[in-house]
Amino acid sequence: MTLNNIALQTPYLSLDGEFYDLTDPTPLDDPYLISFNPEAAKLIDLDGNSGEDPNFIAMLNGTFIPKGSRTFAMCYAGHQFGNYNHWLGDGRTINLGSVQGWNLQLKGSGETLYSRMADGRAAVRSSIREYLMSESMHHLGIPTTRALGIIGSKTKIVRNKLEQAAVVMRMSTSWVRFGTFEYFYYSGKHDKLEMLAQYVIGESYPHLIDDEDRFFKMFCEVVDRTATLIAQWQAIGFNHGVMNTDNMSIEGLTIDYGPFAMMDDFRYGYVCNHTDRAGRYAYGEQPNVSFWNLTMLSKALTPLIDKERMQKKLDDFGAFVYPNAYVDVMREKLGLVVKLDDDVELITDLVVALHDVYVDHTLFFRTLSRYDGDRSPMYDIVMEPVILDKWLIRYDDRLTYETRTPEQRQESMLKSNPKYVLKNYMIQEAIVMAENGDYSMVDTLMHIATHPYDELPEFERFAGDTPEEYKNLGLSCSS
Ligand code: AMP
Ligand code: MG
Repeated sequence: MTLNNIALQTPYLSLDGEFYDLTDPTPLDDPYLISFNPEAAKLIDLDGNSGEDPNFIAMLNGTFIPKGSRTFAMCYAGHQFGNYNHWLGDGRTINLGSVQGWNLQLKGSGETLYSRMADGRAAVRSSIREYLMSESMHHLGIPTTRALGIIGSKTKIVRNKLEQAAVVMRMSTSWVRFGTFEYFYYSGKHDKLEMLAQYVIGESYPHLIDDEDRFFKMFCEVVDRTATLIAQWQAIGFNHGVMNTDNMSIEGLTIDYGPFAMMDDFRYGYVCNHTDRAGRYAYGEQPNVSFWNLTMLSKALTPLIDKERMQKKLDDFGAFVYPNAYVDVMREKLGLVVKLDDDVELITDLVVALHDVYVDHTLFFRTLSRYDGDRSPMYDIVMEPVILDKWLIRYDDRLTYETRTPEQRQESMLKSNPKYVLKNYMIQEAIVMAENGDYSMVDTLMHIATHPYDELPEFERFAGDTPEEYKNLGLSCSS
């Protein structure tokens, strides 16, 4: 299908007018293509060469509106760093509608009703980050929003310095946030809360449509999906950076990529967002924060669902839903198929050891994937081999309970532990080049992002330890 015959629908507009504001994108000056993602295009049946269609740039710039589309910004609230803010919403995002179950959005396309004092724009820098990272997460098997393409422009915006403005086209199966529910709860509009819950069930949990207990079951699924998502973040070493309730997806997706980071050396208390001085959203805090965020969601749902039942589900999250989800992904990373009770301790002790030995998180698990009893390759990547040794002795013992051959275990571990993740220093290299008009590194990183488990010898320099000067840097929220 070409851009000319793609046809969008706007189911969100069937909701009450308070859920959104109809608004037009404000085009950027002299837009040009930075990247088009044919893989995401496939999801919406769009031709793989649509990036060459002049209408593609025009669509991202808001001057070509596809058939059936009506443009709007969504309203939501949220707890930001623990404080409730009633007036958030799509401040720089404009929705075009949906096709094949994907809701399309332009991020950075100008002011909306929800922009508050800000400019509605997004820098090339942060747009490239979101574009590449969302695709990388998808290929790592982590639920996420996707991205179809990105344009740059001559329009300048003020951040810490003057920067070029860009627009990234994002796609998601849902853009509803915990904060969307909070908005209607805190404004006392409980009929709209019910309308929203019905909408979410239709969009994200359609198997519950005719279920009498659908609202409670929807809440349970959100809890379960959130547990799985956070377990996957922890296992891959992803620090989101701004886990406010407006950045929590009702479908358990990774959304709103800001000052995120893939960890370099494993640090439990690592905080990628340098404005988060208290470390509220530190890597190691993410499971606790997701519990807190789910608690906030449950509060917003009290007019629809019995409080005690939700509390019980939240208790389950802490007692076994999250721990089981985490242990499951970690077992896979460690190549364990037999389930033993002691695994929890083995994993907990590994986390402590990882912290103490100073090792690159990705490199550790990739190297472990080839472990055959010879410890020297493991010693080579850590600062404190003696500490690691203690854990490896236990791992050796644990492996004797496994039913697979070492070769089978290694093969599966190499598919669970990526050789390549997009670390911030890599993305930064692409950004610096892009700001000088060279987008080749964006393409390179997209290639790496889509082949995380392959050897890719030509990109070996990105497989090792992060260069010392770039390790565990903090990023600003400015974007
Ligand atoms: P975030 O934490 O980055 O997801 O954003 C928090 C809120 O600020 C959301 O309501 C965003 O839409 C809004 N926002 C962030 N940057 C801008 C901007 N440059 N212009 C307008 N709104 C913005
Ligand atoms: Mg956000």
